[in-house]
Amino acid sequence: VIEGQPLPELDADTAPFWHAACRGELAIQACTSCGRLRHPPRPMCPQCRSLEFEWRTMSGRATVWSYVVPHPPLLPAFTPLAPYNVCVVALDEDPNIRLVGNLIASEGAAINSVEPAGIEIGAPVRVVFEQVADDVALPRFVSS
Ligand SMILES: [Zn+2]
Repeated sequence: VIEGQPLPELDADTAPFWHAACRGELAIQACTSCGRLRHPPRPMCPQCRSLEFEWRTMSGRATVWSYVVPHPPLLPAFTPLAPYNVCVVALDEDPNIRLVGNLIASEGAAINSVEPAGIEIGAPVRVVFEQVADDVALPRFVSS
């Protein structure tokens, strides 16, 4: 847990994602009309405009699609941790579904535990979760 870190605000669309994360599961919306996955959570399918959907539990396997190293000015909570990485990963189930988080050395490690210079685009990762509040666990990634 990073002291002073801003946290996601849960709403009707996003709460199921965060509740699954608290159980250690990666839940992604799937349209039950056309079958497409979508993320971030929202009420309508961007492909077919259906309002019908279900939540599916993903494997958590993904590959690094891109990453950045944030530079100052940073939010005060993150300043002592710089330099750290922010990765975008593409899920194995559908590479068009991407998640943002930090690549860390091992489950529970700090967000600056991986040297940004060592990150490779396309590297396989898996999702882990860090419980940061009663109803929020943040996705992070470890090499797999
Ligand atoms: Zn659809």
